[in-house]
Parts: sequence; C-alpha cells; structure tokens
Amino acid sequence: MIENEFRRPVSIDTAPRGSLCEWCGKPAEVQLTAIGGIAHNESGLFCNACGQDFTRAVTSTASTTTSTNTTQQPL
Ligand SMILES: [Zn+2]
Repeated sequence: MIENEFRRPVSIDTAPRGSLCEWCGKPAEVQLTAIGGIAHNESGLFCNACGQDFTRAVTSTASTTTSTNTTQQPL
C-alpha cells in the first residue's frame, strides 16, 4: 500500500486483476489517476515501485507549479 500522509493530487485504486504495470510490465497492483497539474487526468496501472515514482513525479510537478511565488529582489 502507498502511504497517503498528506493530500496528494493522485487518486489510488486497486488495479484490475491480471493487469500489468505500464512502465515495467510486472503485475500491476494499483491504478493511479493524476488530479490537476501538468499530468491532469493522466492515469495508468502500475506496480508498487513504479506507482511511487509516478506519485512522486506528479506531486513534485504540482508543488513546483504552486510555489512560484518566491520572488527575490536582486541587490
Ligand atoms: Zn512497474
């Protein structure tokens, strides 16, 4: 299971029986759907390892788009 400690823009469902991971071809365990961000509504079937990479990629993308408010004045 993937820990869901804080709100991530990814919905996690159980993969259909017999489906394969889109990235490595191993048996898929989760179906992930990106919500918002650059990967909006992008979904796929992943094993646990690839699912965590997918979640991390989507989460980092979302955090960079929301933290663009750091304007620094040059001296
Ligand atoms: Zn995989």
